[in-house]
Amino acid sequence: MTEAAGEESRDSAGTFTRAGTFTNWARTVTYAAREFRRPRTPEELAALVAANARVRVLGSGHSFNRIADPGPDGVLLSTAGLPRLIEVDTAARTVRVAGGVRYAELADTVHAHGLALPNLASLPHISVAGSVATGTHGSGVGNGPLASAVREVELITADGTAVRIGRDDARFAGAVTSLGALGVVTALTLDLEPAYEVEQRVYTGLPLRGLDFGAVAAAGYSVSLFTDWREPGFGQVWVKRRTDRPAEDFRWAAPAARPVHPVPGMPTENCTEQLGVPGPWHERLPHFRAQFTPSSGEEIQSEYLLPRVAAVDALAAIDGVREAVAGVLQICEVRTVAADEQWLSPAHGRDSVALHFTWVRDEAAVLPVVRRLEEVLTPFDPRPHWGKVYGIPSAVLRGRYARLADFRALVRSLDPGGTFTNAFVRDLLEDAGGPGAPDGSGR
Ligand SMILES: Cc1cc2nc3c(=O)[nH]c(=O)nc-3n(C[C@H](O)[C@H](O)[C@H](O)COP(=O)(O)OP(=O)(O)OC[C@H]3O[C@@H](n4cnc5c(N)ncnc54)[C@H](O)[C@@H]3O)c2cc1C
Repeated sequence: MTEAAGEESRDSAGTFTRAGTFTNWARTVTYAAREFRRPRTPEELAALVAANARVRVLGSGHSFNRIADPGPDGVLLSTAGLPRLIEVDTAARTVRVAGGVRYAELADTVHAHGLALPNLASLPHISVAGSVATGTHGSGVGNGPLASAVREVELITADGTAVRIGRDDARFAGAVTSLGALGVVTALTLDLEPAYEVEQRVYTGLPLRGLDFGAVAAAGYSVSLFTDWREPGFGQVWVKRRTDRPAEDFRWAAPAARPVHPVPGMPTENCTEQLGVPGPWHERLPHFRAQFTPSSGEEIQSEYLLPRVAAVDALAAIDGVREAVAGVLQICEVRTVAADEQWLSPAHGRDSVALHFTWVRDEAAVLPVVRRLEEVLTPFDPRPHWGKVYGIPSAVLRGRYARLADFRALVRSLDPGGTFTNAFVRDLLEDAGGPGAPDGSGR
């Protein structure tokens, strides 16, 4: 690592440790890259790509596995220093945004033009290109992953060629949720809609027994159920309603009388406004305010997407290992994601329930529980979030992605020399073993 600092310091995408290494945001992964570079111009970026045989791009470093790591012979290129392009076309209702821009900055600009994105993730501090590359999502039975808003991707490929892939291109369904394997995403064009307002209410004490998951999940534009699995039920349900759509009654639990944090005991000032106070879309759809860091990164995350119709059975299966899960869990969030067409999207072709786990940051204690959890979820064909910790072997995952061969062909056509293929991608596309495996090569 050439940019190693003597003292610990935070780059906008990660941390330089005292030992002179560079880690992800949560400091759970130390990148093995031989060099860390932060180009300032597109020309500098293209020259760096052309000069190196092994490259990976780092967005905001919020992934929890080795997906971004180029390995010891590679260069890790941060997009944090590149110009922050955000071009809004109000007539076309689109925005062209540099890959490294974070959703918080994008949302502010889009909103200032009277426009909006259809959805956001739980926190707005993540980069646009990094998020859509891993299939990042918010919640909502009618809302696809964040990649669903993308209409065009602009890439710099390994030989320095600029490539544009739009929705009418046969390669498009492989080009957005691409795990960073096709090239450097320099810009993305996203669909927008007129700005809208959202009101957020939290309900407390929803029992697992008798849960009508379909009705609860559809009770708002975006609904999240939270549990620490110490009891078989949900301590909180966050319901975000658009004020321009008819309101549903939430009749399954009582409204909270004061603001809450999803993790009991954490400061509520970090959370977006609740108690039904209407506000702009970008100040309500994330759970956490843009100006606060939601936590110090003292966590490990895992998440699995499975068919929504299996939600109640899957929750019952987790209830069967509740004590093991609760022992290392900070919080579990249950969301919904509408099916999309991206070949490698965990929501590909199926309306999904997303079961998310924020664990304590104790890998030795957490990994056996991850394995146990995956065992009980196996009957539901879970697809893990590409940016989080999992142990499902690649050989199994290949069977869960019907268009994997098309993606492999796309990687070979755009990057025949494998400049952007790291161990994570290679394991998924070629070899047996699990790239995000707790005890495998990916971690
Ligand atoms: C506190 C927290 C909350 C989270 N909340 C959610 C949530 O609500 N929903 C959800 O689905 N996920 C969530 N995540 C996971 C997160 O969204 C993903 O890990 C996402 O990939 C992070 O984006 P990033 O830019 O930090 O990605 P990075 O970790 O920097 O990179 C991820 C991948 O994208 C590639 N990449 C990044 N930029 C580029 C580029 N310009 N060109 C080519 N490839 C690129 C990298 O090579 C890598 O393969 C959360 C994570 C944290 C830490």
